[in-house]
Amino acid sequence: LSTSSCPKVCIVGSGPAGFYTAQHLIKDVEVDIYERLPVPFGLVRFGVAPDHPEVKNVINTFTQTAKHSRCSFYGNVNVGKDVTVGELQGAYHAVVLSYGAEGNRRMGVPGEDLPGVYSAKDFVGWYNGLPSCRELKPDLSCETAVILGQGNVALDVARILLSPLDILKKTDITQPALEALAESRVQKVLIVGRRGPMQVACTIKLREMVNLPGTRPEMVTADFEGVSEALKVPRPRKRLTELLLKTALDAPRDKELERRRNVAKVWGFRFFRSPTEILADPGRSRTAGIRLAVNRLEGSGDAARAVLTGEVEDVSCGLVISSIGYKSLPIDPVVPYDSRRAIVPNSVGRVHQAALYCSGWLKTGPTGVIATTMNNSFDTARSLLEDMDSGALDVSAAKPGSQAVSSLLEERVKPVAFSDWEKIDSLETRRGDACGKPREKLLSVEEMLKAAWS
Ligand code: FAD
Repeated sequence: LSTSSCPKVCIVGSGPAGFYTAQHLIKDVEVDIYERLPVPFGLVRFGVAPDHPEVKNVINTFTQTAKHSRCSFYGNVNVGKDVTVGELQGAYHAVVLSYGAEGNRRMGVPGEDLPGVYSAKDFVGWYNGLPSCRELKPDLSCETAVILGQGNVALDVARILLSPLDILKKTDITQPALEALAESRVQKVLIVGRRGPMQVACTIKLREMVNLPGTRPEMVTADFEGVSEALKVPRPRKRLTELLLKTALDAPRDKELERRRNVAKVWGFRFFRSPTEILADPGRSRTAGIRLAVNRLEGSGDAARAVLTGEVEDVSCGLVISSIGYKSLPIDPVVPYDSRRAIVPNSVGRVHQAALYCSGWLKTGPTGVIATTMNNSFDTARSLLEDMDSGALDVSAAKPGSQAVSSLLEERVKPVAFSDWEKIDSLETRRGDACGKPREKLLSVEEMLKAAWS
């Protein structure tokens, strides 16, 4: 297909969902990707932990897609503000929304807004250089940190809080985060969950935490009562539970015992606990602890429910990080939005509005790894191509595509092209080279734009 005769589709958001949707579509259509920030790749840049560089290799595939003759990238364009979804619908045969889940779920407990309480979303954004989290400057002057939630993001946060600096300084963690962590007094991290060991949301990635140099695990043995008798579960859950059991119950031998004796930093899961209040210091100026309700389980397996026992327990801590989930936000009133589930309602990516589709975390809710996002984005792309074939998506009339949008944007904002991003990229990698890191990220939109247009 020549570019001019291609149907024109635009994608909103350049995270894994945007890029995987584009990758599948460019065989048959021309794709323009609009991204709010001057830099692409969404949570691959701003979510994935700095000590997981191998996960970021997907960027190579995304870059190939971005450089394809039928794909264009327009960064620095905030859809819903700089251009409306209606305007995009006027310019393209179809619009795919892939703008992720940028909000966070609140705990809904008193004291949640005290200094010393952060969402994992902001904390992760801070150490990964998300411009909006630049000023977070978390106070790490306390000894104990409590993380609420037991998923992989909670583990990332715990690892970053406790990792030896020698490990972190070879990663692309931001310099201000590295400096703050160098001064950190956090010695103990408790990872709290409503339910029990058989319900933890993290994956076998827990192994990294168990093996983290300079730290030792400390669990509550009683939490594991009956767990070893309940191992008839699917294999991933079985492996994870076995690791938990081994970590909690097995007495460490010789070398490991010696290693654990010599480390100061401690982490552990705390099960069957829900937050009811963040406790303030006497001056009410900052976090001094957290009140946890003690739960018991009703039922078993994934379906088990946490039920309050009426007992509570106070834990002293100066830092609380809530890692209870991300949440998609509505960006434009013309787009249907299910506020209860915080997604755009859809069937296999088809939004119940002509020529509108969605993929990624916006489509499914904020769960799953990049591979899950890839599959659901390919599904959405397939739905769109099927609709084109069946005539359900009308591509007969010519559409102006980026030409129309560019003239709208002229008065509003200047987009960043993929080649502009490559200038940012090369500046960041050069800055990284100078200090032995894979990259030193630019931390503000202004700096990014300056580098892009230099
Ligand atoms: P996102 O990656 O969030 O991309 C959305 C994009 O849309 C962003 O670039 C955003 O700037 C843009 N956008 C938002 N609003 C607008 C707008 N109005 N206009 C234009 N653009 C907009 N998965 C793994 O496989 N391995 C890991 O190690 C891993 N670590 C993770 C760590 C964290 C802390 C988190 C939160 C997730 C992690 N994941 C990991 C999961 C993975 O990041 C997600 O599966 C994936 O990023 C979801 O892709 P997405 O494109 O739907 O959303």
